[in-house]
Amino acid sequence: MDEYEKLIIDKIEEKREDTIEFHRQLVQMPSENPPGRYKDISRFIRNKMEEIGLNTKSKMNNVIGEVGNNAGPTLIFNAHYDTVEKFTSWKRDPFEANIENNRIYGRGASDDKSCIAAEIYAAKALIDSGLDFKGKLIVTAVNDEELGGLGGTSYLLNRNIINGDACIVGDATADYPIGYLFGAIFLSFIIRGKQSHGFLYPDLPPPNRSKYSGISAIHKMVPIMNFLLDMQEDFTKTETKYPNPTDCSSRISSINLAMVEGGTKISTVADHCQLQCSIHTIPELDVEKIKTRILNYIEKLKQEDPDLEIIVQIPISYNPYIINTESNFAKTIREATKAVYGEFREFKFSNCTTDAHWFVEKGIETIMIGTFREDNFIHSADENVYIDDLINTTKMFAITALKYLWEET
Ligand SMILES: [Zn+2]
Repeated sequence: MDEYEKLIIDKIEEKREDTIEFHRQLVQMPSENPPGRYKDISRFIRNKMEEIGLNTKSKMNNVIGEVGNNAGPTLIFNAHYDTVEKFTSWKRDPFEANIENNRIYGRGASDDKSCIAAEIYAAKALIDSGLDFKGKLIVTAVNDEELGGLGGTSYLLNRNIINGDACIVGDATADYPIGYLFGAIFLSFIIRGKQSHGFLYPDLPPPNRSKYSGISAIHKMVPIMNFLLDMQEDFTKTETKYPNPTDCSSRISSINLAMVEGGTKISTVADHCQLQCSIHTIPELDVEKIKTRILNYIEKLKQEDPDLEIIVQIPISYNPYIINTESNFAKTIREATKAVYGEFREFKFSNCTTDAHWFVEKGIETIMIGTFREDNFIHSADENVYIDDLINTTKMFAITALKYLWEET
């Protein structure tokens, strides 16, 4: 560890208790999405950013803090403060932020308020160090990530409210940087049928039907579900060559038939059916090819069956991402792992949908770091974060920025 790394790491250790306290205060302010009431928490975060010396602004309750100049590259820190709902079955109060056995408990404690606290206290350590930086640091605390990010990160990037050369998204597993991102496709299939009495005029093949027979939207969804399950079977044949993150055992692309809804009652032929499904592809696969394969199959079904009335929607679709491990930024991250963990740590993959793809789509070099572990129970009851992970993530943000935005002269 060089003297500057040590300076920053010491500064973070000095503020360990403050970081924990700020994190607990974040957890104590509910920001569940839905319903998405963010005024109080976004004001609280903005005040903290001002207090540590960032120039701030707020757009749609997304908070942006900046420091630095135009003499070098721009690095963006990104984390989201919206959380999933508290849900039930908690053994603790989800908004008390109790500390037990070196963990802080509460909704959002890990996903992703840990990274809000980490990015802000990382920025504080850098500012307090008094070092001169060549370039700009932009710290973003966004909302709407849990519902796709259109009102958060995507909004800020598409309106050009933020832009940069490189980005760290703090919304990932602990211990290793993430440099390989799975691609994703979210699909919605909506089928219209024809209602009829399900006993008198069921949906049967000819010659057992008349003009009064129903057309079951649910029956017509079955081949599509089978097609998707066959595709999943295909996916099991191709494993990614990139290394798994902590606590992730799957190495293949996955399909989740997430929601199916249709029909009205047992005596009636279903006049509608909707299926929502998500596909996450390993970095080696081409998302466009998978989309084409699905849409071609639907076209074939339509040609074979004139009664099939179907709409396919693809609200989200993006390609995988593979970091250039030879880039300056990637090397910077590698050095940061050495400073924080005492050894070089390799990039792993993430198979999760996060805000990272919005930065990738803008051509911004992106890596992810974070605090998640299996026993953090993110999106579930008794969510928690290890305090050591909170502090290590703070160090990863800070040391990366130190290396990327500051050169010894
Ligand atoms: Zn998250």
